Amino acid sequence: MHKSGVAYFSAEFGLDESLPIYSGGLGILAGDHIKAAADLNVPLTGVGLYYGKGYFQQRIDDGGSQQHLYPEIDHRGSVYPVRLVKNDVGQPLVIEVPLSGRHVYANAWSVQVGSVMLYLLHTDIEANSVADRRLTDTLYPSDQNVRLSQEILLGIGGARLLAALDIQPDVWHMNEGHCAFLTLERIRMLSAEGIPFETALEAVKASTVFTTHTPVPAGHDVFPIDMIDRYFGDYYWQLGTDRDRVLSLGCVDGAFNMTRLAVSLSSKINGVSQLHGEVSRDLFHRWMPHIPKQDIPVDSITNGIHIGTWLAAGMKELFDRYLPSDWAARTMEPDSWAAVRDIPPGALWEEHQQAKQKMFRELGLPLDESDGGPLIIGFARRFATYKRALLIFSDPDRLARILGDPQRPACLVFAGKAHPADGPGQDLIRAIVARSREPRFKDRVFVIENYAMDKARWLVQGVDVWLNTPMKPMEASGTSGQKAALNGVLNCSVLDGWWAEGYNGRNGWAIDSATDGDREYQSKQDSEALYRLLEEEIVPLFYKRDDQKLPAEWVNFMKESICSLAPVFNTHRMINDYRRTMYVPASERGRRFAADRFEIASKVAAYKQFIRDHWSGVRVRNIEILDGTSGRIGLNKTAFRAVIQLGIIGHKDVRVEAVGSDGRQGIWKAKLEPVQQQGKGVYVYEGASPDVTVDFRKANVNVRVTPVSPDFAHDFETELAAWG
Ligand SMILES: *Cc1c(COP(=O)(O)O)cnc(C)c1O
Repeated sequence: MHKSGVAYFSAEFGLDESLPIYSGGLGILAGDHIKAAADLNVPLTGVGLYYGKGYFQQRIDDGGSQQHLYPEIDHRGSVYPVRLVKNDVGQPLVIEVPLSGRHVYANAWSVQVGSVMLYLLHTDIEANSVADRRLTDTLYPSDQNVRLSQEILLGIGGARLLAALDIQPDVWHMNEGHCAFLTLERIRMLSAEGIPFETALEAVKASTVFTTHTPVPAGHDVFPIDMIDRYFGDYYWQLGTDRDRVLSLGCVDGAFNMTRLAVSLSSKINGVSQLHGEVSRDLFHRWMPHIPKQDIPVDSITNGIHIGTWLAAGMKELFDRYLPSDWAARTMEPDSWAAVRDIPPGALWEEHQQAKQKMFRELGLPLDESDGGPLIIGFARRFATYKRALLIFSDPDRLARILGDPQRPACLVFAGKAHPADGPGQDLIRAIVARSREPRFKDRVFVIENYAMDKARWLVQGVDVWLNTPMKPMEASGTSGQKAALNGVLNCSVLDGWWAEGYNGRNGWAIDSATDGDREYQSKQDSEALYRLLEEEIVPLFYKRDDQKLPAEWVNFMKESICSLAPVFNTHRMINDYRRTMYVPASERGRRFAADRFEIASKVAAYKQFIRDHWSGVRVRNIEILDGTSGRIGLNKTAFRAVIQLGIIGHKDVRVEAVGSDGRQGIWKAKLEPVQQQGKGVYVYEGASPDVTVDFRKANVNVRVTPVSPDFAHDFETELAAWG
């Protein structure tokens, strides 16, 4: 038996435009993640699906309507070697997955990304019925049955594939909830070896980590319970428990929620920016109402981009010339980047002009960069409505004045796909195409078809300003602006996602988004702020030239942007964060839980069961705030006394805290200790907070009891608490 590092599951992977099995940021992130793991020799295996026709190819017709083309992918054109996976006797490896009472078969394709192997399951093989052969045709199908089937193939099929390949990961990383059924399949495998369900669950949870990407409740993948019953009817019992217990792991508001399943079965969870971490804590708080928002165990690891993929070749040569020779191996050290400041401004500006020219050529834009102009503003991303592509058109007259200034012209370049079922998203494309046809926006507003990684590369390398106007806080991270920053393109963005961390006042522009008021008010404020930035700062700075016709101050912004952002928002830093805060702890935990025939997993399972069975008897009675001058505690401290009824739960198994807020000091906690037994299962707890002086006439103090164990991954693992 050999252990094999991290298994990284994702519904989409964006490695290169030649293998179009991605839709947007999630897939690009997954692709960049495995490339960085390969660079840094992190042992990792990717698992996904091979979509025969990929996402879709976009055409935009004369009326601005998006057409969806589904050509068969020819993987022989892939820049990464793609091979059919064979078994020991040289036959194509086929795995079997239970689906709604029948069996579906899948083969696997491997994609070699340096030292990392990515495996992709595919059902278009003869063993399957005609209908099942189509299951893995396209990414994010609208048909819920196909969608659920794909998620079963990914999660259950993916786990079976790894077993068939004798890959036994230390850590299982779920990139978004689509793949979360892998947890059930791993429990099933343990159950088949005779491990009881709750023990298996603890062992699986210990070694599983989850990255959530979706800041809005509506964005989470949800299936009706009767549908889950249909697909899992003869699977539940194989897990060694009953239907209700399985459903309880994912049930939210009467439906089965994949994010909830992932949260229930992970020992570590992270959001993809600090802000998104907070938003996710808010969101998950609805599922764990006993736990205050700030205690919901969600960390954040801010996304990054893979420098080798996104840096323009010419810019890389410039960096090679001026940066320390090993800069590419030390991208997360700010020192490696400091020498960007030493690049002669003319050289950096010239290299940017080269990238700009290349973009004009590749995208067929009828523009010329003589004297550095016109100022090009890029906006390219999925046309999801929260990204507000139309925000900049809020006042078309004002925009026309900005773009049409004959002395200081500016252009907007748009690109992006809307999901085939997203009518409002497609309306956005139509609206922008219509704008681009207005005489006043002729040769000022362009729409580029079929946004993909190649177009993204030309744009993030070649425009002058990268615009992002999401409705805060709905952009979990965003990564295209990071690609732009690396190339000396300046960001102008709402302070959402990564930009809330990246912006420093000297490396781009922040649209100071309104977070109060309704959507309309927010949009009005944001567009006003955007116009002001364009009129008063961005356009003037761009056209402010010195006697060598160089925009010296603009170039300083470019340098600041590269120096301050490149060391942080790259996937090498990101992978190291994952390794340190997720992979290493989960791997140790997983090993510990599984050791000695699952002794710890079994102990934790039994303990949680005991707590669940008896928690209803836990009560907080009589909270007293003792006067600080009353002797025992001493002056200037506030002491608390509470009587806690624990029943048969021992006091070593709980933590008792006074939790309060008094407006001035925010939220604080003070630990209370048992000082006296009052009766059977009833204790007096007392404690004082060393650094909080509470005005107890005004304070809002509660006492909280939570079950604890040194074997828990975090303080609120049971999601239980008693308050008084
Ligand atoms: C980087 C990238 C994205 C993600 O961009 P966001 O800023 O996160 O919206 C989407 N699509 C493609 C093709 C990309 O290269």
